[in-house]
Amino acid sequence: MKQVAILGATGSIGASSLNVIARHPQRYRASALTASSNVDALVALCRRFAPDIAVIAEESLEATLRDKIAAAGLPTRVASGREGLREAATQASSEIVIAAIVGSAGLDSTLAAARAGKRLLLANKEAVVMAGRLLFDALRASGGELIPIDSEHNAIFQCLPNPRVDLARAGVRKVVLTASGGPFRGKARADLATVTPDQACAHPNWRMGRKISVDSATLMNKGLEVIEAHWLFGASASQIEVVVHPQSIVHSLVEYADGSVLAQLGNPDMRTALAHALAWPDRVESGVAPLDLLAIGQLNFEAPDRQTFRCLDLAYHALEAGGTAPTTLNAANEVAVAAFLEGTLPFLAISELIEATLDFLPAAPASDLETLVYADLTARREAQRIMQRSFC
Ligand code: NAD
Ligand code: MG
Repeated sequence: MKQVAILGATGSIGASSLNVIARHPQRYRASALTASSNVDALVALCRRFAPDIAVIAEESLEATLRDKIAAAGLPTRVASGREGLREAATQASSEIVIAAIVGSAGLDSTLAAARAGKRLLLANKEAVVMAGRLLFDALRASGGELIPIDSEHNAIFQCLPNPRVDLARAGVRKVVLTASGGPFRGKARADLATVTPDQACAHPNWRMGRKISVDSATLMNKGLEVIEAHWLFGASASQIEVVVHPQSIVHSLVEYADGSVLAQLGNPDMRTALAHALAWPDRVESGVAPLDLLAIGQLNFEAPDRQTFRCLDLAYHALEAGGTAPTTLNAANEVAVAAFLEGTLPFLAISELIEATLDFLPAAPASDLETLVYADLTARREAQRIMQRSFC
């Protein structure tokens, strides 16, 4: 029986994780569950899964959570805040940690799990974008391992001969990330001036949290994934290509020196990646319907529209600039997306705000966590300032 900690259990990835775990009660048990501030959703999950520990990130809600867990007659321990999240990420009994908190809020607990030598199932791509080198240094030092949950990176992981392969020695020419193109594929900039958060979150193929849904609509999600692929597989920016594939059936591809191209296909359902990463190197049932190629009929591919969706190039530039640039990109994006979701920033201003923040804060070397945390805070402050001055 493997014990699994789920950081961000009340979210979209959290729900898919628990769905797969519930299919294999002899194999997996949810040992730790965490949430940001939704106590009732967390208590409902605790009633169903009876974890050892439940953590609410918002410290002022710890007493409420404790009362409700006690009223439910559950033996689950209760904690809160950053220390609570760290405890959930590192508790000795858990072998596997699913990092599914959204945004930079997940960095601390993701790093804690890496330092504790866990099998880290990584969905929280913002943590890798911010601190990829530190994360892999921590995994190397602790003997932990990372299995990507992001569907594209999980696909590439499956198409490589082994997880820690040297791309040159393995004869890999490039990795190709597929992108659905999001809800605004085919639109011109002029069409996007007045789009609403609900329109941006209406993804054609995937049901996801609102932040990543907006990232998919701007193509920043693919930009973050380019940086993620760099850290996960050691690919340079020029070895990472993005191709729009509207059906989201081919999850990504690896091209080899001999002309072979390996791809992983499946229905767009995150439970495939989760089941793969939980069981690897075995395979277990995920609940995902078998792929019906005849019903799908066609698989299409096209180039991304880099003029309309400028975030993709901003991410490539940040990767090439290195140092603090990806952290700045990520922080400015989080500020911009939050403002767009609140209705205070227009959709087209998201990329403009990120670009202005990157221009204002040139990349600096970054080899330790303090520098990156400071870069994150500085970028948030500057993005807020630029937004007030120029965009609101
Ligand atoms: P979501 O918004 O549905 O869920 C986020 C989870 O994080 C929730 O449990 C929430 O309570 C928790 N959380 C939010 N803010 C927090 C904070 N400040 N402190 C502690 N916990 C906090 O998001 P999601 O769609 O499940 O995405 C989670 C992560 O997985 C993101 O990094 C996203 O990019 C990545 N991802 C998601 C999908 C998908 O299909 N949803 C696919 C690939 C990668
Ligand atoms: Mg993805």
